[in-house]
Amino acid sequence: MTDNTLARFCQAMKDLGIEPVSKPAIGYRYDVNEAGHEFSFLIHEPDESFLRPPKVTVLRKPHIEGVRRTHIVEGNTLCFVDENNYYFDAEHPEKAASDTIGFINMTIKRMVSPTLSHDDFNNEFDAYWRPHQYAYLIAADNAKYIDRYRRRSPLSSAESEETLIHEGRESGAFKAWTFKRAYQIDEHEPIENVVQLTIRNPPVPPAADILYKWPIASWENFVLWSKAQGNSFVATMLEKLAKVALRSHDITILISYTNKSGLMHHFAVRALFKRNIRTIAKRDARARESAKKNRQNKRKLADIISMFSAQQVKSFERLGIFNASPSFVIGRNTLGDDLKGLKIGLIGCGTLGGYIASTLIKLGAGTGEGGELILSDGDLLKPENLGRHVLDANYIGEFKSFALKHFLQNSVHWPFNCELWPSIDAAHCKRLFSHCDLVIDAVGNIPLSKMMSLQLHRSEPSKDITLIHGWIDADGNAVRCLLDDRKAGCINCLRVEGKERFPIFKNENDANEHKPVAMSCGQSFTPYAASVSLAGASLIINTLLDNLHDKNTPRLRQYKANNCVPELKWQTMKGLSTCKVCKP
Ligand SMILES: [Zn+2]
Repeated sequence: MTDNTLARFCQAMKDLGIEPVSKPAIGYRYDVNEAGHEFSFLIHEPDESFLRPPKVTVLRKPHIEGVRRTHIVEGNTLCFVDENNYYFDAEHPEKAASDTIGFINMTIKRMVSPTLSHDDFNNEFDAYWRPHQYAYLIAADNAKYIDRYRRRSPLSSAESEETLIHEGRESGAFKAWTFKRAYQIDEHEPIENVVQLTIRNPPVPPAADILYKWPIASWENFVLWSKAQGNSFVATMLEKLAKVALRSHDITILISYTNKSGLMHHFAVRALFKRNIRTIAKRDARARESAKKNRQNKRKLADIISMFSAQQVKSFERLGIFNASPSFVIGRNTLGDDLKGLKIGLIGCGTLGGYIASTLIKLGAGTGEGGELILSDGDLLKPENLGRHVLDANYIGEFKSFALKHFLQNSVHWPFNCELWPSIDAAHCKRLFSHCDLVIDAVGNIPLSKMMSLQLHRSEPSKDITLIHGWIDADGNAVRCLLDDRKAGCINCLRVEGKERFPIFKNENDANEHKPVAMSCGQSFTPYAASVSLAGASLIINTLLDNLHDKNTPRLRQYKANNCVPELKWQTMKGLSTCKVCKP
């Protein structure tokens, strides 16, 4: 970091012809004319360490007919740089100054263009919706209820309230979320009060076509907005509204759309109708029924609109949505390509298996139709395990697999299907392969791995099965994994005439020096940090995910935690012609 960064930045601004102002101490006025439109900005508060970009406050902006206001956020601040994709380099303050001006100019070009500003507005719609308040959404496409709940912060024990949109109190998602969030749930029966709709077009038409002010501030304007989405949209919305209005006069309309980048967005409005809306809705339902009987034409849209006129609405507010729907939370990081619907067996719930399981769950294991996570381990959790296990002292004395299931259920806010199996023998192994799509062997026991491999190659399962062995090797200095889908070498092919096919130490002497620490009679223990297990869990899961997407990715992989371990090229190794497991 150079000492005179800020001074150089200021000099660079002057060199660019940007005039300093007398107040604030470090501030520049930037006037710019873009296509005949005059803008003025105050560039101020440059950060000495360049941890954040300077602030740009809008002093003057033109009103441009037919162009929507974009890129100006709260406090009249210009949003001119994406800090996720660009950083101001303290070593090059001159470049930072010219980039600042360059980004402002680029932003203005987008702001004055009718098409670009329209695109930006719709793409970053959430930023311009300006909600009065926010609600959590945990029902992806089956939202029925909105309600407020009291909860206590686990940190301060302070009580607060939050709003939740869900699909029903009986749903697994509701139970899991409210348990995690420690909601106080009363006995009252919730009333269906949410109308959910999807729009196909961008949420807002070009500004020139709009007959109301932004942001939408009244029911009347909301109906005008809905009309711009097409007559069928308004008709569907009001029909759904009429049904919900039979029971509730406090109605939330939740709207979803997918932007140009393929991201799903949500926004909502909440309208509190007069209580007699229920009487009107009942009359409407009867009219609809008799129209059906008499085979009359559909009622006119104008009639339905007038039924829910602005006079019927007591209050109106915009809601922002925090999407906590499990499908969104899981799919966001895998772009939808998650583990849902797969039957996955995890054999071994030790240090490696624990970290594997906790990651699998966040990737959607055990969710979706037919999705299942099977855990198997016959060991009890002991105090000495805690230094490198995902489980804590809460679970000492319990079976690791039972404890892990409990821990996993507590770690996410969605339900999943998790089965517990006893420790694996040949018979269980056979059943496992006929049941699962994917089996992970994280036991680190050579005879067991060979037995599993033998079962895989000798049985004739009706579907494609993938077996992944993962183990800590080289006395805790390396992790290896091998994916076996019966199309290349097996775990038994890793040793030739009793020797490692791919050496695990650079010097053979190392193999003799690095001895496990003997603990007690018949029990030895190899010290290595939990970080090695974490790296191993990553290696195994990345191999699994790669293979889901591309069957040609390397099946044998290694992570080395120490330089005493030689490099092992990631590869798909050929089976040995003499292998007694995969070449009978
Ligand atoms: Zn083999």
